[in-house]
Amino acid sequence: MIVMKFGGTSVEDATAIRRLVSIVRTQLPRQPIVVVSAMGKTTNGLLECARLAAAGEMLTAQTKLDGIAAHHCKTAEQLALPGELNELISDLQKRFAALRATLGEIQRTGAITPQLSDAVSANGELLSSLVVAAAFRAHGIKGVWVDVRPLMQTNDDFTRAVVQFETANPQLHAGFTAALADGGVPVTQGFIGSTAEGATTTIGRGGSDFSASIIGAALDADEIQIWTDVDGIMTTDPRIVAEAAKVKVISFAEASELAYFGAKVLHPSTLLPAMAKEIPVCVRNSRRPEVEGTAIVRHAAQSQALVKAIACKRGLTVINVTSDRMLMAHGFLARLFTVFDKHETPVDMVATSEVSVSMTLDDTRHLEGLLADLQSFGEVTVERDQALICLVGENLKYTPGVAARIFSSIVDVNVSMISHGASAINVSFIVADGVAEKAIKALHREFFSTLDAATFEAPAVAQAVA
Ligand code: ASP
Ligand code: MG
Repeated sequence: MIVMKFGGTSVEDATAIRRLVSIVRTQLPRQPIVVVSAMGKTTNGLLECARLAAAGEMLTAQTKLDGIAAHHCKTAEQLALPGELNELISDLQKRFAALRATLGEIQRTGAITPQLSDAVSANGELLSSLVVAAAFRAHGIKGVWVDVRPLMQTNDDFTRAVVQFETANPQLHAGFTAALADGGVPVTQGFIGSTAEGATTTIGRGGSDFSASIIGAALDADEIQIWTDVDGIMTTDPRIVAEAAKVKVISFAEASELAYFGAKVLHPSTLLPAMAKEIPVCVRNSRRPEVEGTAIVRHAAQSQALVKAIACKRGLTVINVTSDRMLMAHGFLARLFTVFDKHETPVDMVATSEVSVSMTLDDTRHLEGLLADLQSFGEVTVERDQALICLVGENLKYTPGVAARIFSSIVDVNVSMISHGASAINVSFIVADGVAEKAIKALHREFFSTLDAATFEAPAVAQAVA
């Protein structure tokens, strides 16, 4: 059994869904479970409808929703069997009618509660999965639509609900085992779940990758395939460095660091369930299925490469707290971090000296309250528009002189908060956002000018026409 997850661009229209069907067809002997995201841009579109409704702009919200409905119905018409089409269209229409009612409720109260937000945004995956399941049947494959909500139980922290694994795992196992019977190809939703009381929840933006991994782990899958619109994990963002190469194999530990520190390919939590069960994960391009992609495995074979990839997290805010009271005091940091906990703000990176602490934040929604509370600890300064650059590679652990190589390649860039993580496989530091791209280019030149062919695949260079 394998799990195949397809992201928004891989289900964006009839052409993409036909490609998906032909990709899944090649894997039928491995008993695939198909997990889909919403059709490209649908989640944002639905949430925009909710915002418009809350702002009282009901007409604009309706028009926007009608556009989303029309696109889904048109795609269904292009894909479904004639004998199934009426039923499918009426199913889709029923869901859009319910969505209209929810938007009406949002308009009346003028507020999008997290629960209503989920009731709206969860429809993206429900709709796309219905269309994809029908497309399988039209191509002679037994697509079985599975509503994942009763199987994927979460808590009631709407918009970022936490999966309750003790309940969810056995239910996912039983539900999908039944759907796989007699050659069925289950088609289900990423991103969504439900509370014990049956209210629809979502597990956080971009969460479909995580759902796929949870389902794969619950069923002890042989492999989890993440189908997206890039060739795999790259040595760095190709929009910054055109020569960025594909990383062919990478370890769980390395890939987790990259996902966490800004590589956009995978949702940061994706690898946890897979790692726990040692299920290999691969990242593939649904537009170029002939390309092998990136394999994420427990132990990547010994590589010559010092650095596997460079990730960057931009738009960060750095908070510095300076206080003499920190000197020789115990419990200072513990008290300081309770403030972040109180304001539900995660900290990405921390650096301390005897009298100061610096912390980076991604989420500044509660910054004001946070800063007010931090004043009691000492002098507080804030630096906005910062970027975290992170170099990842298992060999960073063993190689002396790496820091010298890293920082001498970017001598003209002002660096702060250097951290060689506890796992020792990453080196991260902060630079001003404005110079992040320049630093990444220089670092890429330093570490990837020659590529170990066992680990990397250089981008195809356009052949000159003879
Ligand atoms: N559709 C959801 C989102 O856009 C989940 C996902 O695509 O992974 O965030
Ligand atoms: Mg995604």
